[in-house]
Amino acid sequence: MSARIIDGKGFAAGLRQRVAGYAADLKARTGTVPGLAVILVGDDPASAVYVRNKEKALESAGLHSFDHRLPHDTAQADLLRLIDSCNRDPAVHGILVQLPLPKHIDTPTVLAAIAPEKDADGFHVTNAGLLATGRPGVVPCTPLGCLMLLRDVLGRNLAGKRALVIGRSTIVGRPMAQLLLGADCTVTMAHSRTRDLDIECSHADILIAAVGRPEMVRGDWIKRGATVIDVGMNRIPPDCGSAGGGRLVGDVHYAEAAEVAGAITPVPGGVGPMTIACLLVNTLAAACRQAGQPVPEEALP
Ligand code: NDP
Repeated sequence: MSARIIDGKGFAAGLRQRVAGYAADLKARTGTVPGLAVILVGDDPASAVYVRNKEKALESAGLHSFDHRLPHDTAQADLLRLIDSCNRDPAVHGILVQLPLPKHIDTPTVLAAIAPEKDADGFHVTNAGLLATGRPGVVPCTPLGCLMLLRDVLGRNLAGKRALVIGRSTIVGRPMAQLLLGADCTVTMAHSRTRDLDIECSHADILIAAVGRPEMVRGDWIKRGATVIDVGMNRIPPDCGSAGGGRLVGDVHYAEAAEVAGAITPVPGGVGPMTIACLLVNTLAAACRQAGQPVPEEALP
């Protein structure tokens, strides 16, 4: 069997265009231009690249991006003051604090300072709680993107499917499992203490891998015909012998899995582009809510 390749890059490009259309419509109706404050503390090069890509995507969809670059030694109190001013600024509909933050800053305190309705990443405990109680508010971007890809492949109705989520982080695994539960899947969560992970995988109609271990999930673990969403992004160093030179690989052994799965996301070009597209979706949805306008249906989980 040769799996259908799930084109996350193409889907994300279409989604970004549709967000641009909705944003233009919102502006024409209300004068509101969705705006995201992007806060970067420090000079981590990877974070700087992520932030630049996010800002470019916002601008190309006609959304405003308000950049705040703060030095590495910024005091937590100053960062909290900036967040407070963004919370009160009516031109800012979403706030994103790029993680990780420098060690002297307490990340949970900072995330809790963002007004829940402006929490573009969906990491605030209020939004985590809303999702966990089946009333999603702002949903984290990566799992939201995974759900959109799943529905594109399998249709909107996922009821009764057996889903396995490997990984239980608050940014991917946990919210992903909650979304699948909300879609009436029968959900199993796996983590580093899970026994017989291969057997757990073999039952799954939907397999989400969000682990951070290159090519950990092997082809012979996967149920024939399953839909596999590989969230992992692992850079294999060039000196890593047979594993290849400087490649980006997922948590799933792609070549093996593609022989068994019904559909699979590649890495790169699968989930990654969906994460940024869903940041635009969350910013648009926040702007609609704050302007008292209906949120486009496809922006809802
Ligand atoms: P975390 O490190 O926060 O979480 C990893 C999870 O994997 C943990 O729950 C951990 O279990 C579990 N785990 C570790 N080893 C094993 C194992 N041997 N068997 C089963 N489970 C295991 O990672 P993230 O959730 O932040 O990210 C996961 C991956 O997704 C990374 O590769 C990251 O780069 C990628 N990512 C990609 C994004 C994208 O846009 N495509 C966005 C975000 C992340 P335990 O809790 O027990 O420690």
